[in-house]
Amino acid sequence: MTNNLLDYDLEGLTAFCEQLGEKRFRATQLFRWIHQKGAADFEQMTDLAKSLREKLAGSAHVQGPTVVSRHESTDGTIKWLFDVGAGDVIETVFIPEADRGTLCISSQAGCAVGCRFCSTGHQGFSRNLTTGEIISQLWFAEHFLRQHLGRDERVISNVVMMGMGEPLQNYSQLVPALKVMLDDHGYGLSRRRVTVSTSGVVPMIDRLAKDCPVALAVSLHAPQDTLRDNLVPLNKKYPIAELLQACARYQTAAPRDFITFEYCMLDGVNDQPEHAAQLVALMKTHAINGLSCKFNLIPFNPFPASGLTRSDMSQVMVFAKILMDAGIVTTVRKTRGDDIDAACGQLAGDVQDRTGVDQRMAAQRQGMLGGIKVVVKV
Ligand code: SAH
Ligand code: SF4
Repeated sequence: MTNNLLDYDLEGLTAFCEQLGEKRFRATQLFRWIHQKGAADFEQMTDLAKSLREKLAGSAHVQGPTVVSRHESTDGTIKWLFDVGAGDVIETVFIPEADRGTLCISSQAGCAVGCRFCSTGHQGFSRNLTTGEIISQLWFAEHFLRQHLGRDERVISNVVMMGMGEPLQNYSQLVPALKVMLDDHGYGLSRRRVTVSTSGVVPMIDRLAKDCPVALAVSLHAPQDTLRDNLVPLNKKYPIAELLQACARYQTAAPRDFITFEYCMLDGVNDQPEHAAQLVALMKTHAINGLSCKFNLIPFNPFPASGLTRSDMSQVMVFAKILMDAGIVTTVRKTRGDDIDAACGQLAGDVQDRTGVDQRMAAQRQGMLGGIKVVVKV
């Protein structure tokens, strides 16, 4: 099996080219062909010497993802399911908005964290994706969309690591993929437009600050440890105080001057006015450490096995108002792609169980990442 060049960031590709006895700048040319032009065939790369193209053909390949299906919503949201082998399927979602195009990317097949309200969590952990499998979601979607929409220039302006999996539990494969996204010879995305969403792997938040600071979203979901232990089991290892201290440390390196906290609104569980008041108190305490934040309230996407239900919109508004009255910028995630169940981070299932997947998807009535983040006016 030859090397898949999608597994390399520019540094890795340079090392690979040097092994082949090639100069560094050849790696840059090759990298640009792959990521900027979407080329997978070395013969297309006409400004590379024939001898190099032959060497590459013998030792490397560019392997994109295997498409299982593509669904397109009337609002332009597109969801792909990709087969990553051994019955595992991952999802990638494109969400177009007037001023940006966002791609929601998966980092693992399944997830080991096991959050109660997440169907990926219920599905359990299958395996980490490789760097190539992570970046190939962007590689494929960007070049597909350029063709599909008949555009010459970049279509995807933002990436959110909010698909399946906990990105910070796949750190070593994640970081090179982030570097390709940021590289000017790759996708040239600004650090502010690449968001890692995490359930709170504290040591890895610190490492990310040093290795590749990008925008950070933290899935909080509860204002105190007893409740969060129950909703996000990782909280038992890294409780809220430690997590928020890590967020404050992250902010000194972060490209944005705030951390986004995601909060999934679960009827009667974490959506009461007293929960909002506790959150306000918590944020005030940590503001002393320099933490500044924004809240993103997510309407829960119900699925039968969760035994949970979505909060009423009126409840969400009451909750939002308490946060906003305390001066916390709060947005409510608007759902997108409802008609194709483009629920990011929601899909459970595998190729062998396609019927099961379809049933579960049908049960998910609302797209989650679907993400226009509207400031609620209350
Ligand atoms: N594992 C990472 C990123 C993937 S999940 C994380 O947890 O942050 C992306 C987002 O989807 C998280 O904020 C998660 O809490 C949210 N989410 C998961 N299941 C959901 C559901 N059923 N309804 C609404 N949001 C959900
Ligand atoms: Fe994993 Fe995130 Fe789902 Fe929790 S919410 S189970 S961390 S994918």
